[in-house]
Amino acid sequence: MSTTILELIYMASAAGFILALKWMSSPATARRGVLAGEVGMLLAVVGTLLRFEVVDYTWIFAAFLLGSAIGVPLAYKMPMTAVPQRTAISHAFGALAAALIGVAEFYRVTPDRFTMAALSMEVLLGFLTFTASLMAFGKLQEILPTRPITYIGQNVVNLGVLGLAILLGMVLVFDPTQTWLFPVFSLLALTFGVMLIIPIGGADMPTVIALLNSYAGLSASAMGFALDNKLLIVAGALDGSSGFILAVIMCKAMNRSFANVLFGAFGQVQTGTAAKVEARPVRSASHEEAADILGSAQSVVIIPGYGMAVAQAQHKVRELYDSLTRRGVDVRFAIHPVAGRMPGHMNVLLAEANIPYDRLFEMDEINAEFAQVDVALVIGANDVVNPAARNDPASPIAGMPILNADHARTVMVIKRGMSVGFAGIDNELYTMDKTLMLFGDAKGFVAGIVKELSAVHA
Ligand code: NAP
Repeated sequence: MSTTILELIYMASAAGFILALKWMSSPATARRGVLAGEVGMLLAVVGTLLRFEVVDYTWIFAAFLLGSAIGVPLAYKMPMTAVPQRTAISHAFGALAAALIGVAEFYRVTPDRFTMAALSMEVLLGFLTFTASLMAFGKLQEILPTRPITYIGQNVVNLGVLGLAILLGMVLVFDPTQTWLFPVFSLLALTFGVMLIIPIGGADMPTVIALLNSYAGLSASAMGFALDNKLLIVAGALDGSSGFILAVIMCKAMNRSFANVLFGAFGQVQTGTAAKVEARPVRSASHEEAADILGSAQSVVIIPGYGMAVAQAQHKVRELYDSLTRRGVDVRFAIHPVAGRMPGHMNVLLAEANIPYDRLFEMDEINAEFAQVDVALVIGANDVVNPAARNDPASPIAGMPILNADHARTVMVIKRGMSVGFAGIDNELYTMDKTLMLFGDAKGFVAGIVKELSAVHA
């Protein structure tokens, strides 16, 4: 195929990736964004397969079959709530592929200095991302202990291993003929990936995955320089920068610094405040009472959280929305940036249930209005409405911005019991005088309310 046509295919592919990122930034255009990304990827694969360097398709076809045999069940079998670990395992594969291509390229030709610099970066980031992503997958899937494992001098040891790997990479840049150094360099990168994740707790893992996404992208970009492939440079840079921006957004939403995520030990279960909150009584209510209160309210703000995702209650929530709206109740949804287990988790679920986008409000848009809201209906959310973030400087979530559900006139919380959320701490919202606990599975309880509302209506 002529180089010009290939360049055009690659350019269209890069445009697909850029448009995908642009459109995915709003729920209204997100589906289009996914499609643009898919078309971009298809063009990238087709363009690459048509390159004149490809002399035999046998191995490519075998790899295609093997990859599909792993990828297709992975996509269908893993539930939405397991997306963070699914993302981690995909990064592990992607990063391994980039690193192995770097290794092959190193042994295929003796690289010049510039290529060697790109190869060193590619292999270092690729291998460390591979093992770090596998570790992150293991922790999120609870195959490995989720608690942070720390020891004195850990940061010094970790930085020492990374420093040594970088040093060897630089020596190779100046003298690529020292081939014996390359396996040591690779081994150090693999080891650093494991050591990087050991001190990080399960709660910080989704943020770390966003960061690993960034590393995998940078590795692919470096591969683009090593192989002189412009599309890889562009796609890798987009992946690298978007992963980094996402990690920053997540850190901000949880009020945590990068250094704290990477070197801290957040995520351990706190037992100190638990006793204090549990000792206080809670008021609970039935479907009928909840339906009565909601049906006579003027404004309701629904706050979905991880429990709604677990219960797959979004379609029932849509029915509740319809039922209340028909009665003239103003129903809005308040979305916390880290509600659930991945950024945009709630938006995806509510979009799936066709909740109108203009009813979804970001935390900053709606927080000041809670004082005028009749009912804040919390569905399976916990940490993102925990006033301890504001009131208790000793809390592990101190300073994290939360949704002001406690400012509403009445608060109703649907959850199965008094269990803690992701951060492992109790929630004083449940014991406030204005709070009614609606104990039950989110889907079942919302269905019960909808039934009551329609019975009253009929
Ligand atoms: P959460 O604090 O994890 O609480 C979820 C609550 O849902 C639990 O207390 C649980 O209580 C309840 N629940 C579970 N299954 C349920 C079911 N079937 N029906 C009804 N309730 C159910 O959730 P969140 O408020 O959404 O907060 C998210 C947390 O994840 C934050 O700490 C955030 O920092 C962290 N995080 C999020 C992201 C992200 O990108 N979204 C990334 C990293 C960390 P019961 O067991 O009593 O029912």
